[in-house]
Amino acid sequence: MKERKLRKNDILLIGILLVISGLLFFFAYIAKDSGGSVTISIDGLEIMELPLKDDIRIELSSEHGLEEGHRNTLHIKEGKAYITDANCPDKVCENKGSVCYVGETIVCLPHKLVIKVTEGIASDMDGVAG
Ligand SMILES: [Zn+2]
Repeated sequence: MKERKLRKNDILLIGILLVISGLLFFFAYIAKDSGGSVTISIDGLEIMELPLKDDIRIELSSEHGLEEGHRNTLHIKEGKAYITDANCPDKVCENKGSVCYVGETIVCLPHKLVIKVTEGIASDMDGVAG
C-alpha cells in the first residue's frame, strides 16, 4: 500500500516538474527573441536604427535614399514594426504584417528596402539615459 502511494506521488512530482520546466523554457524563449531595435537599409546601405520601444511613424521617401516617387511608411508601435502606404507594385512589404523578433525582416524588393529586427539597444539603457 505504502509503495503504491509513493509511486503515485512520484509521478505527480515529475508531472509538475515537467510543467514548470516547460513554462520556464517558454518564457526564456520569449525573452531571448524579442528584438530591441530595427535597422532600415536602402539599396544595401543602412540608413537608420530605431528602438522598438518608442512608438514612431516615418515616411520613407527619396529624402532617405529611396528612388524618386517611391514611398513606404514605417510604423513602430507597441514593440512591433510594420509598413503601410507603400506604393510599390507588389505590396509584399505591406502584406508581411508586423515583425518583432530578432532576425525577422520586412523586405520591399521593388524599393530595395529592408527593415530588420536586431537585438539592438538594450532595454535597460532607459535607466542610463534618464
Ligand atoms: Zn513593397
